[in-house]
Amino acid sequence: MVDSSAGGKMSAHGGGGGRTRVGRYELGRTLGEGTFAKVKFARNVETSENVAIKILDKDKVLKHKMIAQIKREISTMKLIRHPNVIRMYEVMASRTKIYIVMELVTGGELFDKIASRGRLKEDDARKYFQQLINAVDYCHSRGVYHRDLKPENLLLDANGTLKVSDFGLSALSQQVREDGLLHTTCGTPNYVAPEVINNKGYDGAKADLWSCGVILFVLMAGYLPFEDSNLMALYKKIYKADFSCPSWFSTSAKKLIKKILDPNPNTRITIAEVINNEWFKKGYQPPRFETAEVNLDDINSIFNESGDPAQLVVERREERPAVMNAFELISTSQGLNLGTLFEKQTDSVKRETRFASRLPANEILSKIEAAAGPMGFNVQKRNYKLKLQGENPGRKGQLAIATEVFEVTPSLYMVELRKSNGDTLEFHKFYHSISNGLKDVMWKPEGSIAEGDETRHRRSP
Ligand code: ADP
Ligand code: MG
Repeated sequence: MVDSSAGGKMSAHGGGGGRTRVGRYELGRTLGEGTFAKVKFARNVETSENVAIKILDKDKVLKHKMIAQIKREISTMKLIRHPNVIRMYEVMASRTKIYIVMELVTGGELFDKIASRGRLKEDDARKYFQQLINAVDYCHSRGVYHRDLKPENLLLDANGTLKVSDFGLSALSQQVREDGLLHTTCGTPNYVAPEVINNKGYDGAKADLWSCGVILFVLMAGYLPFEDSNLMALYKKIYKADFSCPSWFSTSAKKLIKKILDPNPNTRITIAEVINNEWFKKGYQPPRFETAEVNLDDINSIFNESGDPAQLVVERREERPAVMNAFELISTSQGLNLGTLFEKQTDSVKRETRFASRLPANEILSKIEAAAGPMGFNVQKRNYKLKLQGENPGRKGQLAIATEVFEVTPSLYMVELRKSNGDTLEFHKFYHSISNGLKDVMWKPEGSIAEGDETRHRRSP
C-alpha cells in the first residue's frame, strides 16, 4: 500500500495501490483517453500477451437504438485480420462497462511524427496514405465504415506500420437524434466531410474518403486544409472546400487531393479510382491478409436482449503493489527501445510523455505544480497524482493534463504527463514550456540513446 508518511517514499502509484483484474486480464496504466472511453494497457495472465483494452460506460452506449448496427460492426471487426487495422480480440462486459480487447500498438500516433519533425516528404506521406486506403477500402468491402477518421485513430506499431483504430466503433460514440439520424456529438470537425456536418444522411464510404484526403493534406503540408477559430467560419470553408495546396506539393498530388476534397459527394472521386491513380500507385504494395474462423459468442451475449448474466465479468482489485514492473516499462516504450523510455525534452513528445527523476516524489509534484500555476493551469492534487486544467479554451476544448509518478526503484521515479483533454499540438507546446521550468527535476541517464538512432535500437528476438 501507499506509504505517504515516509517523506516522498512511495510505491505503486500506477494503480493507486492495487491491481485490477477483468476476466483473464490484468489492467495496467492508461494509454490514452478519448471523449467516450479510456484505453488501458493490459496483460492476459494466461498467455502473458500484452493487449490494449478500451473501456466504455455501458449505459452511455447501449441506451440508444443502434444496438443492431453496433453488434453487426463489432462482429465484423472481430473477423477482420488486416495488417493496417488494429485487431479486435474479444469483447467483455460487466454490469456497468464494456471492455473491448484489442491489439496493443507501441509506436504512438502517426501525427506525433509531424508534431515533432514537421511535415513528411511526399514519398513518406504516400506510403502512409496507401496503408490508410488499404485499411479503409477493406473494411468498406466488409460493410464497416469508420466515420471518425482523425489523427488520434492512426497509430503506428513497433515496425512503423500504420494501424487504424476504432473501425466499426463510431456508432458507440454517436447519438441518434429525434429524427433518427446519426449525430456526431463531439470531436473535431476539421476532418469531417461537408455532408456529414450537414447531417442529412450520408454515404459512409465517401465520407471516410474525404477524411483520408484531409489526413493526406496534413501529412504533406504540416497543417490543416480547413481551419478557423470560429466554428461557423470553419463549416463554411468545409462546405465550399475552400483550401489551397502549398507550393511544395507536386502537381499530381495537388490534383488528387482536389478530387478527394470535392464537397459534392456525388462527383467526389471513389476509393477504387484513388487506387488506380498514378500518384497513388507509385511504390504501392497491395496488402496481404487472411480472415479467420472466430467465435462470436461474446458479442452475441452482450448485445442480445436476453444476455446471459453468467457471462458478465467483474472488476476485482488485487491487494498487491503495483510498482511499474520492467515488463510494463518496456512495453510502454517504442519497439522495445529502452533509449526512448524516458523521452528527451524537446522532440518526441506525444499525447503523453515521460521523464525520469531522482528527486523524492513529493518534490517532483510540488515542482510541477509550481511550474504549471504561472502558465495558467489550475492544479488539483490527489494521492501523488496531479490534474492540470487549462484556463483557455483550445482547439479541442481546454487542455487538461494528468500526471502520475511511478516508482521504478526507491531512488528513481518515472513521471508521466498525459493529455486527458484538448489538442495534441497544444499539449506539445505546453510540454515544451513546462520542461524548461523542470530542468532540475528531470534526470537523464548517462549515455542514453538518442531518438532516431535506429542502429542501436534493441529488437525483440
Ligand atoms: P480517441 O481516438 O477519440 O482519441 P480512444 O478512446 O479511441 O480516443 O483512444 C484514446 C487513445 O488511446 C488513442 O488516441 C491512442 O493514443 C491510445 N490507444 C487507442 N488504442 C490503442 C491501442 N490499440 N494500442 C495503443 N494505444 C492505443
Ligand atoms: Mg480512438
